[in-house]
Amino acid sequence: MKSDGEKTVMKAAVYEGQESIQLRQVNMPALPQGGLLLRVKACAICGTDVRTFHHGHRSRQPPWIIGHEIAGQVIQVADSVERLKAGDRVTVAAAVPCGKCRFCVRGWRNMCASVKAHGNHYPGGFAEYMAVMPEVIEQGAISRIPDHVSYDEAAITEPLACVINGQELLNVSLGDTVAVIGAGPVGCMHVEVARARGATRIIHLELQASRLEQARAFGADFYINSDQQEPVKAVHEITDGQGADVVIVACPSREAQEQSLQMAAVRGRISLFGGLPKSDPYIKFDSNIVHYKEIAVYGAFTSSPEQNQSALSLIAAGRINTQALITHTLPLADLVKGIEIIERGEGLKVVVNP
Ligand SMILES: [Zn+2]
Ligand SMILES: [Zn+2]
Repeated sequence: MKSDGEKTVMKAAVYEGQESIQLRQVNMPALPQGGLLLRVKACAICGTDVRTFHHGHRSRQPPWIIGHEIAGQVIQVADSVERLKAGDRVTVAAAVPCGKCRFCVRGWRNMCASVKAHGNHYPGGFAEYMAVMPEVIEQGAISRIPDHVSYDEAAITEPLACVINGQELLNVSLGDTVAVIGAGPVGCMHVEVARARGATRIIHLELQASRLEQARAFGADFYINSDQQEPVKAVHEITDGQGADVVIVACPSREAQEQSLQMAAVRGRISLFGGLPKSDPYIKFDSNIVHYKEIAVYGAFTSSPEQNQSALSLIAAGRINTQALITHTLPLADLVKGIEIIERGEGLKVVVNP
């Protein structure tokens, strides 16, 4: 056992209600039976953390430690844990499936009916230490980080896994033309995953000029500023009037979701990857396009432990430009500053180092 094990308090950024996250001294988590204790080294800020900060979240009753894009070092393991030991560098998946429900049995582990999530059901990663429960280990929701991958890079595993889930549903494959709407971190990762899966022509669309400029690091074939060019027309021009085989809406925009139908080719597949505000999630949906062109519309929600493993191996193989993706690293005390950076659209991934 390391000296960390003798500490009784730790620093944590505690969500104390809407618009309030405070740096506090809190009790160290105890070593769970059959689980382990993690020294959190990196926890990236997710869009859902930003929403929780402003609007609350039904599974996150304050005071609570949020954060679910986590990488850290194991400092203590329960006697029964065989696969991991103190000193191991690991990343944990946000969502931990039960492995037993109808959806888990069908292999849809991201859809688990009794899923438990870090930052929701378990305290999250915006703290110096975190307990990892036995089911996380049993369900394979914890992976060892290869030596050449940094903690900051490994913290990108979870959002990347969600992107992989979206593209597995779409079956993005060799020869596809893929249009990605939105050049936030998720949109940029979609471009790279589409390329890794064999898409031959990738069109990246974004309203904000500075974001589009930033997105050039991720290697799409065409960049469209939707503020200056009519996006549907632009996609049709690039594709000789055919439209895109796959359209991924990676932004919470009603207009973009409506445009996605008009951008899709015959038998096109669409992913409504970003959710709309709960208060008004309705769009004008031209069902005749779906009917005549045999369009398929998919959702996408969280990721499975397998997809987290795929994401980590993609990062380890150097297939993700993590250097361009991680635009900011901040200490724990600056979590709210990080949230504001994301809101202003100034950065892509903001990683907190507790
Ligand atoms: Zn996330
Ligand atoms: Zn389940």
